[in-house]
Amino acid sequence: MKTVQTHQFDSVVIGAGITGLAMALSLAECGNKVAIVDQRLTPPTVDESEEYDTRIYALNENSVALLKKLDVWKYCDQQRIQPITAMKVFGDKTGQLDFNAKDKSIENDSLGVIIESRQLINILYKKTSHHPNIKYLLGLSIEGTDVIERLRVVSLSGGLQLYCRLLVASDGLFSPTRSIVGIKETITEYDHFAVVANYQSDQDHYGVAKQWFLSNGDILALLPLPDNIVSLVWSTQKDNASYLSGINEDKRIKEILSKVGYGIGRLKEVTRPHVFPLRLIRVNPIFLNRFILCGDAAHGVHPMAGQGLNLGLADVSTFMELITNKQTTIDIGEYSLLSSYSRRRVESVTLMQALTHSLYVGFHVNTPWISWVRNTGMNIINGLPGLKKLLLKQAGHA
Ligand SMILES: Cc1cc2nc3c(=O)[nH]c(=O)nc-3n(C[C@H](O)[C@H](O)[C@H](O)COP(=O)(O)OP(=O)(O)OC[C@H]3O[C@@H](n4cnc5c(N)ncnc54)[C@H](O)[C@@H]3O)c2cc1C
Repeated sequence: MKTVQTHQFDSVVIGAGITGLAMALSLAECGNKVAIVDQRLTPPTVDESEEYDTRIYALNENSVALLKKLDVWKYCDQQRIQPITAMKVFGDKTGQLDFNAKDKSIENDSLGVIIESRQLINILYKKTSHHPNIKYLLGLSIEGTDVIERLRVVSLSGGLQLYCRLLVASDGLFSPTRSIVGIKETITEYDHFAVVANYQSDQDHYGVAKQWFLSNGDILALLPLPDNIVSLVWSTQKDNASYLSGINEDKRIKEILSKVGYGIGRLKEVTRPHVFPLRLIRVNPIFLNRFILCGDAAHGVHPMAGQGLNLGLADVSTFMELITNKQTTIDIGEYSLLSSYSRRRVESVTLMQALTHSLYVGFHVNTPWISWVRNTGMNIINGLPGLKKLLLKQAGHA
């Protein structure tokens, strides 16, 4: 007969990506006993390397504030973090939008930072694995879950049963936990894939992030990293993505320069390209009885605005705010708390998904009239400092 081992926690977090680790750490810091479950057999760490990681994130000020609150930021190697001083967005004709750190507010001298995925994962792992309130359960996945009285029971592979007040799913875009609890998602497959690689330039980028919306619907971004390295994120049709990742370095650089012009200096490839499929995933609801979704498990967005992880970290800070604002000792799985979490997240997430999706669709329509409207629109917005400030504020509070 199969023996079932049972354990009790305040919270169980399924998925040890950046969002799940940040959520587990936040819950543990508030005094909760937390189990982190991941299907990987080994810790989610990534080898340290001199080479810059191909996975990099543009983080907004809210995400950085959360990482500071969790005491993660001070362990990040600041030499490998690049503040964004300005952003230039180019339309497919004459349209241009410029954002400058000075336009934003006086308390900040950057529009955000660029950081490597590897740094965040490794520091979050160190903090969580040494935390007295956190237990790692690796190489396991969820097989079922139910609510019994005021507890959620989580059945894991290997005959383990966990009892908790709150189950958190942060197991990525295709969240198996989401389907086990019966929450449906709507997936829109973009006909684009992202080609990502890093280049050393012989020219100073001055911390400026650049993005081009091209007339064929491609979106190409060059994001600044320290040491005058730029990270390419090129959203393009599948065939072109395969072509770009298959050709040699010289040809790839020629392709990039042919799209963005020659004002970015001479490039040398420092990390090989990787290709990622792109999807919009809308999920509703994001909570159930003693259950919440967060991170990519709760929302998938096109990376053109660099907001996916920012949304995930905003899920974490929203939940933390709700817990810490309560005066009395609370049950972290209580209905009113989870429904407030959902109400507060739905608006920002829907707005960001609508914005990125309409930009994607808008730049795929290529009639001269629409092209004129979008380029003129960009130039009009560029002349309205108040509106630009508002847009930046929105992007900072994913
Ligand atoms: C090209 C590209 C560029 C991007 N740039 C940016 C950017 O500049 N800024 C930004 O904010 N965002 C960006 N994003 C989005 C960002 O990458 C994601 O939003 C973020 O990585 C999601 O993190 P997560 O922790 O929610 O999920 P994930 O990183 O997917 O982690 C999920 C975890 O769940 C685990 N898991 C999966 N299945 C199971 C299971 N059955 N049981 C247990 N565990 C399981 C996995 O092992 C993994 O550890 C970009 C995305 C792409 C594709």
